[in-house]
Amino acid sequence: MSVTDLSAAERERILAKAALFAPPAATLADGRRELVGLSREELTAEMVAIGEKPFRAKQLWHWIYHQGVTDFSLMSTIAKPMQAKLAEKFVVGRPGVTTEQTSTDGTRKWLFGFRDGQQVETVYIPEEDRGAVCISTQVGCTLSCKFCHTGTQKLVRNLGAAEIVGQFMAARDSYGEWPSPTDGAARHLSNIVVMGMGEPLYNYENVAKAMRIIMDGEGIALSRRRITLSTSGVVPMMDRCGEELGVGLAVSLHAVTNDLRNEIVPLNRKYPIEELLDACRRYPGASNARRITFEYVMLRGVNDSPAEARELVRLLKGIPAKVNLIPFNPWPGSPYKTSTSEAVHAFAEIVNAAGYSSPIRRPRGRDILAACGQLKTESERAKRGAEATASSAVAAE
Ligand code: SAH
Ligand code: SF4
Repeated sequence: MSVTDLSAAERERILAKAALFAPPAATLADGRRELVGLSREELTAEMVAIGEKPFRAKQLWHWIYHQGVTDFSLMSTIAKPMQAKLAEKFVVGRPGVTTEQTSTDGTRKWLFGFRDGQQVETVYIPEEDRGAVCISTQVGCTLSCKFCHTGTQKLVRNLGAAEIVGQFMAARDSYGEWPSPTDGAARHLSNIVVMGMGEPLYNYENVAKAMRIIMDGEGIALSRRRITLSTSGVVPMMDRCGEELGVGLAVSLHAVTNDLRNEIVPLNRKYPIEELLDACRRYPGASNARRITFEYVMLRGVNDSPAEARELVRLLKGIPAKVNLIPFNPWPGSPYKTSTSEAVHAFAEIVNAAGYSSPIRRPRGRDILAACGQLKTESERAKRGAEATASSAVAAE
């Protein structure tokens, strides 16, 4: 088999595995169908199925994603009898807000609950005139990077497109940022980083569907330039992500030798550093104007020496790159210490001197465990069945 065939086969395997962890159907016990998370084509098909004209889908899209309305009776361009008919058959939902905490630095974290009782965390990190929403894609994670809190939680299931888009919409609800700002008007929730719980490229179909909804120009209309997806290095899916979505890419590198990376990012045993960097070189759309971000968590005495900084520079040669240095964020029971400030600065200096921008990420929201790698929910895979009958938390019901 050629290399191309091999990676096609590998992609199939990854997608088949993702399907085993599929989210529950987005239909309520009373038979009403969730409209959030449907593609435009699916929404049109739903309208046709109830004997309506396809233009209804366009109207609904506007109300749902541009206006942020969840109540059919507020959709004023739709006649009352039609509103009632829609409300009988459909809902426009949101994840339920289980808890909301705001850090002393303004970072806000939500624990969102879904209809089957599963939960994820979502974080908003405000800057002066903008801000990024950090979105989760899975409940738990199959990978167990040693420095990551989410990695200690088994994968329970993938999130559906409705649940992924829903996190952003619920965050917008929290700040009242509806209707979606247009024509370059300032947005507080201006960026999305797909860097919360889970590995997005192990849930590619749902993530892709959600991103297409978010980028659709007649709805939320967030440009692909404002979206960054972070992967621990699922090489076979990286090309597809670049070709189909064109979002910015962040790669969790964290080590410059395969020996160390095998240990702290176990996925490296499957897709070693050389293959990962080749996939970065091929990443469609990467350019000096759109650099690939390499994330590097600084672990004291583990990966933070000047020699490692120099090796990093050597590895990145030829890739339009920038390096995000992330001081390790501790969590209860974590096995590492944060690098000293001197070590972080010395490392940054070497990378910077080689011509790569190397900002040191200021930890945000540590006091509420909202910083990178601190997210974790209480769910366990075993609880899945019991919770499905016991709980439902949906704002729209
Ligand atoms: N699974 C994806 C996206 C989620 S993790 C990935 O691994 O890229 C988002 C980022 O947080 C990754 O770069 C991850 O390595 C980093 N991270 C994880 N645990 C961390 C910790 N305790 N301190 C600082 N960064 C951490
Ligand atoms: Fe999963 Fe990313 Fe955490 Fe690794 S760093 S365990 S891939 S969420």
